[in-house]
This record gives sequence, structure tokens and C-alpha cells, in this order.
Amino acid sequence: MKYIDSDLYWGKVKVKDIAKLVGTPFYLYKYDVINRAFKKVDNAFEGIEHILCYALKANSNLFILKMISQWGYGAEVVSGGELLLALKGGFKPEKIVFSGSGKSETEIEYGIKNNILLFNAESWKEILIINKISKKYKKIQKILIRINPDINPETHRYTTTGLKGEKFGIEWKKVPEVLTKTKLLSNVKTVGIHIHLGSQIVKKEPFIMCANFIKKFIKTAESSGIKLKYINIGGGLGIDYENDFPISDKVSGKKEKALTAKEWADTFIYKNNWRDKILIIEPGRFVMAKGGIIVTKILYKKRSFGKIFYIVDAGMNDFIRPSLYNAYHNIMPLQKRGEKQINVDVVGPICESGDFFAKNRNLPVQKNGDLLAILSAGAYGRCFSSNYNSRLRIPEILIKNNKTAIIRHKESANELINNQPIETIWIDLKGKQTTKFLKNKNLSIPFGKFSATGNDFIIIDNRENILKGLNLKNLFSYICQRKTSAGADGVIVIEKGEKKYRVSFYNPDGSTAESCGNGLRALALFLMKHNTLFSEQIIESKDGIHEIKFQGNKPKVQMFIFKKSFKEKTLLIDNKKIKGYIINSGVPHFVILGKNTEDPKLMDTAKKIRFNSVFEPFGTNVDFIKKIKTDKIMIRTYERGVEAETLSCGTGAVAAYYIARKILKLKSPIKVITKGGELIISEEKGKIFLSGEVKEVYQGVFNLADIQF
Ligand code: PLP
Repeated sequence: MKYIDSDLYWGKVKVKDIAKLVGTPFYLYKYDVINRAFKKVDNAFEGIEHILCYALKANSNLFILKMISQWGYGAEVVSGGELLLALKGGFKPEKIVFSGSGKSETEIEYGIKNNILLFNAESWKEILIINKISKKYKKIQKILIRINPDINPETHRYTTTGLKGEKFGIEWKKVPEVLTKTKLLSNVKTVGIHIHLGSQIVKKEPFIMCANFIKKFIKTAESSGIKLKYINIGGGLGIDYENDFPISDKVSGKKEKALTAKEWADTFIYKNNWRDKILIIEPGRFVMAKGGIIVTKILYKKRSFGKIFYIVDAGMNDFIRPSLYNAYHNIMPLQKRGEKQINVDVVGPICESGDFFAKNRNLPVQKNGDLLAILSAGAYGRCFSSNYNSRLRIPEILIKNNKTAIIRHKESANELINNQPIETIWIDLKGKQTTKFLKNKNLSIPFGKFSATGNDFIIIDNRENILKGLNLKNLFSYICQRKTSAGADGVIVIEKGEKKYRVSFYNPDGSTAESCGNGLRALALFLMKHNTLFSEQIIESKDGIHEIKFQGNKPKVQMFIFKKSFKEKTLLIDNKKIKGYIINSGVPHFVILGKNTEDPKLMDTAKKIRFNSVFEPFGTNVDFIKKIKTDKIMIRTYERGVEAETLSCGTGAVAAYYIARKILKLKSPIKVITKGGELIISEEKGKIFLSGEVKEVYQGVFNLADIQF
């Protein structure tokens, strides 16, 4: 991070530019910072066989999980939800360990069914349940015994876990007895021990005590015939929050030296003869914290009883560490306004006095509307957030190779309401169950509805194969029906492609189309809103690979004209000669010049052309165009598959553009006026681009429970 001309940059990205695009507040992460932290820990332990199991609780964003699993690391989970995310995030089950002092039977079963490496068991009762469930699955489940060694990690009380008086693990004196009893169980096998002292530990001494404890423990256990293959030392390595910014010395004035990854590793490796063991390490904070910041805006600068407040738009619901642990986080302005500093409280909008990010902090003078970065917020940030005060949870953005991607969208207002039934079904607990539950969860299909200049689409993300086993022709022709379903001019399905995304277009009759210009525009917006990169997108469709650009949040999509298909053709329709031009712009079009585009009978003619034997067997789309200015034409389009006129057609506009250039000699760019709005076709370095208005209408879930497809 550095300032260039008073603007804060993270790498080569000006942080303010992202704020302009997504609004504030938001979490911002940096790929290479996270990657470097992981490598630091992994390399520190290179002298001993080990598995790095990332503690998901620090940050469980799915995109980030996918990054980490792709780097080859394992996962430490503490709930069914985290296990689900770990599996979805691509972690191999044989590298997943399951901890937690209160695992439910359902969660244990979920872990056993998914063949995870092991459970860190925390009580005798839990071991019995693991044994019972693994018996049901005819398995022998590996477990580690989590020990409470009664060591003070000298950290915050709320993140202390291995000290007498805390709920975690089995107290060390009782462990030998538990080990002996466990030997008698037929469906669990103790393969080691687990100790996690706590979190944000910055001193060496607690870890030295822990290493000595383990050494002694191994000796005692192995002398009574219990072989310990895995030694799980947990996580807990802290970071130096006060010196996490190159120029922060000036800001914080304080200095605290945190233990390094190498020093942490050395306390466990040095002098210990654990060569026959596999070490498990479960870092969370150390690998994630510095890779993330929060960007927030000063809503009001206010003075009260002499104190100055920066009231910002992020709250304790977005980032709870300062409120919960009195945690210190550096705060930097996104734009420097001179060197002058003032003493302020940085507070949020929540109705709690504990809603603060900094108290009595000397910070640069800022104005209303200025932006601040709260540093080292990558761990225990977004995943620890809530809807308190009914606020929507904030988005997450990632910088990778100086490009930026939304990796989680801002929550929508629907999410505040949707899981609370409008109509309540009362169930008589003494009587029969009155509700039918969905057996097949696949019958719930999430979708987005988009409108691009009056052309509306249902977009379904099928990269996880949620449409598997369904009759797509029937399903899509049902979905496209107005009045009885959502209704649309087409369905767009996103699949995993060779390059990035592959996309298929379906007509309302269930047939497929090669391409659809407005559909591509809608899709570009969907991808921007629901996942991925802002710029330099590519989308594969049947007609080729389309480049996608954004102007602000308006997409511009590359289109194709297959010039060889161009042909002048005169047809005989109702005994009248009609001259037009055949041109393929992804799909076939027949373009007729100079007709009165107000003529109400135009579409009757269009239908006859569409089914004319000349175009058999595939038929054609039909466009009527009229020049209205030197850079403007009007168009009406009859669409094959929809079998009616549509309010606008992207490929039709591109076909019209080609004819307007070739026959009417108009110059690029050309505005094409459709019934649904204005489209602009332009040529850039020999490539043709289509742009125009596009919007998300709503998101929904198809409930297909009572319909068979
Ligand atoms: N492992 C266990 C069992 C934990 O409870 C925790 C956090 O509390 C961690 C690992 C990760 O700790 P940290 O983020 O401090 O590395």
C-alpha cells in the first residue's frame, strides 16, 4: 500500500476507483498478500511433514476458499456450514479436520459421510456419538483428542481457549483415561492429539510451554502403547495490528512485535524428535488478516462536547472486532489532505455506544464524504458480520493481478425478508405433520431476471450442474410462459467453459439459438453483479468468443457478422416482390430496407417470410429498417423461436448496422432505435460492439416441486 499523489493505492489499484464502482462500505482483499502469508506459514514448517488446514472461521468467502484449496492446502471447520463451504470450495475431504466443542449429531454424520480426515473430539460423549454414527456407516473414524493443557496464551480473554476454566477440549489430567477407554470402541481410532491455545497470540512463551507439554504427553501415551501419528497444534499465531502499514508508525505511535511464522514453527520443530509424526497446523488470522481492508465513507463529521466524531457508513455489524475485543486497527484516509492531524473517534451508524472503530485516535483531517480504509480486516471480518439494525451485509471485492472482481455481492433487501413466511403455516405438534417437504432440493432453481431494451431473459447459473436430469426443453418453454410462470423472451444458461464461461441461449419454445446480442448484454451484467470481473470478460457461445467491456456498470458486448452469408434476395410474398438482404450476425436475419416501420401489418408479412421455403429448415429472423438520420435507423424485428415481434433484438440491430453501412453507406457508430429503446453499434479496431440499456429486474427461485420435468 502506498500513496501516489495523495491517493491510496493497493498494488497498482487506486482504492477510490473501486469505491466509485461499488459504493461503500465494502471489504477489499488482495490475492498476493493472502498467498504470501500462506506460503510464509507453510515454508516455516517445511522441516517436518505437515498439513496446513486453514481455519475457515477467519474468512469463509467461497471464492477465497477456492483460491486456498487450489494452492493445495486443507481446511479446519467447526460447523456443518463450514464443512459445506469447504467441500464447495474444493478442499479435499482427506485434508479436512472438524473441530468445535458442540458438534451436533447431524454435523458429525455429515463429516463421516463425506470421508473427512478426522475429528478433533472435545469430550467423551462426543467420542461415543462419533463411534455410533461411524458404526452406522461401517467405518472406523479417525479422531484426535483435543486437550485443554491449562496454558495461558496471554491474549484477550475471549480468544483464550486452552486455559483452565474454558469450555474447550478435555482437561489434560483426564486424557489418559479417555485414551484407554477409546481403545475399546470399535468404530473410532485415536490417531493423535489436538491443542489450540487461543487466538492473536503474539508471544513465544505460551507456544514453548505447549510444545513442552506435547513432548511430555507423547512420552506418556506411547509408553502405555498408544501411538500418536498426528500432532495438531491448532492456530493462534497473531499479527502486529499496530504496525501493519508501512507508514503506520507515524499514525499509531505504538510498537508491538509479534511472533513470526518461523519463530512459531521453530518452537514446535526445534529439538523435538517428531520426525515420525504428521503435524497439523490450523492458522486463520495470520494468513488472512493483512490481506483484507474495509473501505468506508465519512457520512458526518460532528463535534459534540468538544469531541470530534467521524461517523462512517460501516458499523459494528460489519466489523465487530473493535467492539468485541477492543481491538486496535489502523485507519488510513483514501485521500490525504495535508499532514495535519486531529483527535477523533471513528464510529458507525449503529444504535450502540460500542459501535466504534477507533477511540481518541490522531487521524488526518478529513471532510464529509471522504473515504477511510480500516486495515488488517481480512480475518474475522465479513464472516463475523450480522444484520443488526437490519442492515444489509456488505460486498467483498478481490484484487488479483491488478484486476478487480466482486466475490460477494451486497446483500439484497429481499434477503432481509425472504426467509420469513408471509403466510404462516401452523402445525399441530400433537397431530399429523401437515406440510410436505421437498424431497429433491434440485427442484429449487435460483435465477435472475434481466431486461435489455425490452428483451427479457431468465438467467440460470448452471456451473454446479443444478439442472442435471431435467428436461430442459420442457422446463424452459414453461419458464418463458407469461401469466403461468416468470415469462421471458428466452433463457440463458451459464456453464463452465474452456476459457471462462460458456453460454447457451434457449428460445421460449425450448429450442436453442446460436447467439443473442441483448442476451449477451444481460448476461454480462449478471456476471458482473453475481460474481466476477468488471473488465476484460470473455464469454463463449455457439457463434464464437465474445469480448465484454464495461463503461461504468454498462456492458458493451462484441458481436459477429459473418460477411460471407451476405446475399441480396427477392421473395414473392402474397404475390408481391419483397427485396431484402440475408445476413448472419450470430443468427440468420433477413433485412428489408425502407418499409414504413409504423405499418401494423408488418409482422404478418414478417411471419410469412420467416416460414418461407427459401429459409428452410432453420427459418430466419426478419427486420424492417428505415434511415431517420445520418447516424440513426429505426428497426422492427420478428424473432424466430419467439414467433412474434420483440421489443428489441441485438443480433437484428447488428444485422441492420451491417446493411446500413453497406447499402445506405452510414458511418459507425450507428444508433438503432428499437421499440424497447436505443442500441448503439460501433466498430473498434475491426471488432463490432453492441451497447444499450440493461437492468436486473429481480432475482428469484423457481420452485418446481409440483411439476415434473
Ligand atoms: N483452530 C481452532 C480449533 C480454533 O478454534 C481457531 C480459532 O479460534 C483456529 C484454529 C484459528 O485461530 P487463528 O485464527 O488465531 O489462527
